[in-house]
Amino acid sequence: MKAIVIEPGSVLGVLGGGQLGAMFTMAACRLGYHVAVWDPDPEAPAHRVATHSFPAPFTDQHVLARFADLVSVVTYEWENIPAELCQALEQQKPVRPSSAVLSVIQDRLEQKGFLASNGFPVPPFAGLTAPDQLANIVRQVGYPALCKTATAGYDGKGQWRITRESDVREVEQALSESARPGMRWIVESLIPFQRELSILVVRGIDGQSCTYPLVENEHEEGILRTTKVPAPGSSAVAERAAAFACQVVDRLEGVGVFCLELFQLPSGELLINEIAPRPHNSGHYTLDACSVSQFEQQVRAICGMPLGEVRLLSPAVMVNLIGDDAAFFMKGAGCQALLDVPGAVLHFYGKPAIRPRRKMGHVTFLGETISFALDHAKQFRRTIRDHLRRSQS
Ligand code: ATP
Ligand code: MG
Repeated sequence: MKAIVIEPGSVLGVLGGGQLGAMFTMAACRLGYHVAVWDPDPEAPAHRVATHSFPAPFTDQHVLARFADLVSVVTYEWENIPAELCQALEQQKPVRPSSAVLSVIQDRLEQKGFLASNGFPVPPFAGLTAPDQLANIVRQVGYPALCKTATAGYDGKGQWRITRESDVREVEQALSESARPGMRWIVESLIPFQRELSILVVRGIDGQSCTYPLVENEHEEGILRTTKVPAPGSSAVAERAAAFACQVVDRLEGVGVFCLELFQLPSGELLINEIAPRPHNSGHYTLDACSVSQFEQQVRAICGMPLGEVRLLSPAVMVNLIGDDAAFFMKGAGCQALLDVPGAVLHFYGKPAIRPRRKMGHVTFLGETISFALDHAKQFRRTIRDHLRRSQS
């Protein structure tokens, strides 16, 4: 039996205090750890559940010293935290996944370059360092294309579609207006995928890894709306996705939880859209439908515990509550109706203000069969749409 490297009772540090940080913190508490949350926003959800809370800018050197002193290991809940901060913390405590992994992943050009040079299939892409290179780059990649900021994008933010030549000038203008020194962009072919899939993979300190079932995702306006598990379709696709996931994290030598977002082409071929170096929104179903959740696995992996057995206990459909949905479903009759749905498990993140496109919570629909869960999820989505139509008219 191998010794647990960081034992329960220790303090785990997490950078970023959004819902992912909060769910990590709750999983860590359940295993007997304490968690120190560092997020500049004092209202970030994870501060509410943390043992130690640091609502300070990521550049605060005094907090850096206190945080590093307090924790036994550091992780992060999203990829847009400063890599330099991870490098500084790494001088004193292990950071998992490492700052080297974060640096590759947090820049779309670095990430796609890493994947392509290691033989993994990705959409055709090219980089630009100045907006006036756009026309040339789009000619190279072809129409239709998608231009994205190389860093700091999430939930479809910082993306421009380029369907025809006449779009180029407009997008170039938008890039110029938002440009900052040293900024880069990536242009990718817009892939006519048949569906979007994702797969979670966990890799421990000893290099052992395990994957979760392949899931199918639907996005609305660039934001994840629904995840279905298990993904319908052939087991060959699921096996291929799992093999990619394990190979990618091995190449990265990543320790922690990762998610591969994938496009499936009509031919059945898979392309990797992106890698997240952390638990993922499409893995929230694991909280209610698996023996060990993605957040518990994050704790286990970064602490050097054995990874948990991955077992899907129930088919599930997860639906995100975004922006205005929340006003209706988090209180009053909307909430009451949702609480009455058999198999519905509610998660509200406790964010103080509802903003458009903001993820406010999610609901996992469980069922003996996927069609039972899907029926309830569909009904729920119809109610969301009706509600939005009413509130807009
Ligand atoms: P998230 O934070 O939700 O993962 P993101 O801002 O990091 O999103 P992407 O995952 O790159 O950005 O893109 C968001 C969505 O936009 C994708 O899930 C997909 O629906 C669509 N998309 C992105 N890139 C492409 C592409 N090359 N071809 C077709 N659709 C794409
Ligand atoms: Mg994505």
